[in-house]
Amino acid sequence: MSRWGIVEQAERDERAAKARGIAADLAERGVSGVAVTWVDNSGITRVKAVPLQKLERAAAWGIGVSPCFDTFLLDDSAAVAKYAGGAVGDLRLMLDLDRLTPLVAQPGWAWAPADRFRQDGTVHPIDQRSLAKREVERLAALGYSVRAAFEVEWCVSVGLGDEFVPACAGPAYGFARLTEQSDYVRDVMNALIGQGLTVDQIHPEYAAGQYEVSVGAQDPVGAADTLILVRETIRAISARAGLRATFSPKVLAGGVGNGGHVHLSLWSGDSTETPAAGQNLMSGGSGRYGLTEPGEAFAGGLLAHLPALLALGTPAVASYLRLIPSHWAGAYACWGLENREAALRFVTGSTGDNANAANLEIKSFDAAANPYLLIAGLLAAGRAGLASGTRLPEPIEVDPATLSAEEASRHDIRPLPSELAGAVAAFEKDEVFTEAFGPEFVDTIATVRRAEIKLFEGASPEDIVARTRWRH
Ligand code: GLU
Ligand code: MG
Repeated sequence: MSRWGIVEQAERDERAAKARGIAADLAERGVSGVAVTWVDNSGITRVKAVPLQKLERAAAWGIGVSPCFDTFLLDDSAAVAKYAGGAVGDLRLMLDLDRLTPLVAQPGWAWAPADRFRQDGTVHPIDQRSLAKREVERLAALGYSVRAAFEVEWCVSVGLGDEFVPACAGPAYGFARLTEQSDYVRDVMNALIGQGLTVDQIHPEYAAGQYEVSVGAQDPVGAADTLILVRETIRAISARAGLRATFSPKVLAGGVGNGGHVHLSLWSGDSTETPAAGQNLMSGGSGRYGLTEPGEAFAGGLLAHLPALLALGTPAVASYLRLIPSHWAGAYACWGLENREAALRFVTGSTGDNANAANLEIKSFDAAANPYLLIAGLLAAGRAGLASGTRLPEPIEVDPATLSAEEASRHDIRPLPSELAGAVAAFEKDEVFTEAFGPEFVDTIATVRRAEIKLFEGASPEDIVARTRWRH
């Protein structure tokens, strides 16, 4: 499909033919409906569904959807923005047939992510997934690709009530927790694997009722799609077990948060094949910990633009209740080898496996993020680092919270914004994002963020947490 231009009739015919074949296969597997998703600027996955009989038509012509969602807030009210939203107009959800997946935990259903087009066949200028694709192409034009993975942390609550009541009592990382909920955890794992995902590991996390799953790295847009699939699968398996899953940045005020850490590695050439072609530029170089020059420049770009990136990666008011020192949430703009308090945790992997395993984990982000916007932002920041040959400062080997102000400034550790407003201000004035996203997109995101700040004005942490808990 020509992603940025008019969708030609031949492309529509091709999509229809492909959908016909897929529909026949899905019918045999007992699928009767296809859920088609996109993620709004507030980070909420929205959906339209079609019966299988309409898949061919939907694949060729899209599914109608209002542009109003571009200004939706996490409570389903809408902001008033200059370039987006409103009751007038219509868009088309063009589903990605290559990613269509029968859902294990929702029998009779399949899922596919979508790009949003205008009725004239051009890409909607405020479409998050298309923006992420464009950033992938821009890096490819420079001879690079990225492999990415989102970690998912979530907490499970007993029953369907709005209060959070941890569904298991065992200790952090405790085998007892897995014993208590072994059927549940196995069902999550098997459902993910049954949907073609690579589960690297799954384990009880620190907080009561908290778990984490890591999936294999893949191309960045694919990784963002996978995140949506993982989250909805966990939600569905939880509901089947009589539990309620929350991915909220903070489940209980004062508790430990749910992170949405992103792992990234920069590769020379096209790394999308398995095993990946090209070379992992996070390893095998003459720089610190084996970083290559482009690998360091890419990482340097991420670090330099991190305050602005928070407007994409920690986009909720509740995000800043999580992004605090000494909670492994990456509250300091610094980097370090295997340092879980640094925003950028550099991972080399085991000796002998470096070329495959070396990557950067950005810990600051959480699951309120729209993963497509975040991928676009990360790739744009990395690309800016490559363009200017950014160098990393000295790595940090301790919890930065333990350093004196003088030591922190000597090590060039900059405080990350402690409130959403600070991140939005950094995002709006950072030219890297104006150039990559376009001023209309930047304005719309900033408007949505400001409207959410207003929504929670004067609210206590308990109130913020309660109103955010079941939204993402
Ligand atoms: N739960 C922590 C967070 O809020 C992260 C724990 C970990 O490093 O896995 O990001
Ligand atoms: Mg974790």
